[in-house]
Amino acid sequence: MVAKTFGSVLHGINGEVVEVESVRFNSRPEIQITGLAGNVVRESRDRIRACLRGLGIDTPSARLVVHLVPATQKKEGSQLDLAIAVAILAVEGLLPVNKIGKMGFLGELRLSGEVVGIPRAIAMMESLTARKELERVFVPVGNRWDAAVLGSPKLELVDSLQSVLEVLTQNEKRETAVSTLPPPETSAAPSDPLLDYVRGQATAKRALQVALAGRHHLILTGTPGVGKSLLSQSAQTLLPPLNDQERIEVSKIHGNRAALDERPFRAPHHSVSASALLGGGTGEVRIGEVTLAHHGILFLDEFPEYRRDAIEGLREPLQEGAVRISRVGANLKMPAQFLLLAAMNPCPCGYLLSRQQPCRCPPDRVWAYRRRVSGPILDRIEIAVGLPGVELREGPSHALVKASIERVWKIQKSRSPEGPALEGRTRHWFNDLCNKEFLSFRSRDKLLRTARTLADLGERREIDRQDLVEAWALRCDAKLLSSVT
Ligand SMILES: [Zn+2]
Repeated sequence: MVAKTFGSVLHGINGEVVEVESVRFNSRPEIQITGLAGNVVRESRDRIRACLRGLGIDTPSARLVVHLVPATQKKEGSQLDLAIAVAILAVEGLLPVNKIGKMGFLGELRLSGEVVGIPRAIAMMESLTARKELERVFVPVGNRWDAAVLGSPKLELVDSLQSVLEVLTQNEKRETAVSTLPPPETSAAPSDPLLDYVRGQATAKRALQVALAGRHHLILTGTPGVGKSLLSQSAQTLLPPLNDQERIEVSKIHGNRAALDERPFRAPHHSVSASALLGGGTGEVRIGEVTLAHHGILFLDEFPEYRRDAIEGLREPLQEGAVRISRVGANLKMPAQFLLLAAMNPCPCGYLLSRQQPCRCPPDRVWAYRRRVSGPILDRIEIAVGLPGVELREGPSHALVKASIERVWKIQKSRSPEGPALEGRTRHWFNDLCNKEFLSFRSRDKLLRTARTLADLGERREIDRQDLVEAWALRCDAKLLSSVT
């Protein structure tokens, strides 16, 4: 007789269901785990024996083989403990085999029999609840919050192996079914109005407003001390909160509730390696900064100082909103829909654009410095503005910018995804401009997208000439930068 139940392991950021089979042979008592089990999984034998002894169950009574399917994929993690324990109890005749075949189990066992919470549980819970044949999925009480975010009626909370035994032998529905839990609370505390701390800088504030409203990547070039970092940091507090689906995706990546009240803001130092920025590495898959910034902001200060391979590696996520990680035996595609905010000095000394201080860099050094950010990368950044120094003109307030971004996101969500069309005369004028400036199709498309955001900010149904002129101005520095490269 073979007993079968279900557990899950992490594969990248997603959970993958593992079938846990067990079979009994009449020979010397021992437990054997097969199916590419990692060290932690193999050690579960001893944890489970200790737990069961505590419950007065002496196992194994014969040779038991626990097999993990699919056998070709390596499995790591202590979260399989509970499923393996249940499969062993079933094949020993202590749990009904027909019942556990329709159930999933997640949780690490303490020697006392307590079921403890596991990191990044939400992805594994999701994989189990998505399986049609599974009717009930038991998860640790310690992962109550993750379970409530997912909100599946199949999920039930357990605190010990003993309580699992009771539920399965007495056939009762737990009161701790997740559907009875209140939805998780997110903090409603107002965030600091960081944008108001930046004095003046109307142009930069406007650029930031447009970038966040239309989800356009932005690069700020300016002399040191003009507020590039503070402007970028304020971006996180200006964005609307995560919606339910985004919250699930973000918590699959971060695996803790701390990150969930606000959108992620990642600011890796310029010494970061390409694999730390993009993900990968040897051994266990490392989640890259681009994925940690999913649905949030990736802030790269001193942009040209990053390693060349790290900067170039951004092409794919900037274009596709995802990053592919190739490894021996597996190709992973990780989500990376972030908004890039990059800041840089105009030259190595930083004063090339300054009206107050002269730049002493020789032209070839300026050229070499800027060339570190290649044309293809600049081509994927819609908005580029230069800040020549402190601009005294005040920009819009934090509250106003935040409200406008929220409004535009709503408009964009309700609109069909077709590209923005131009009304007759505006179209002629725009085509003339594109021909005169030899704009590529990609550049035209970017200009139109930015202009669409500007029209939305101004609450206009049609894009007008003014929007195109402003979009052109917001892109001009990108043109200037790429002409240097
Ligand atoms: Zn300089």
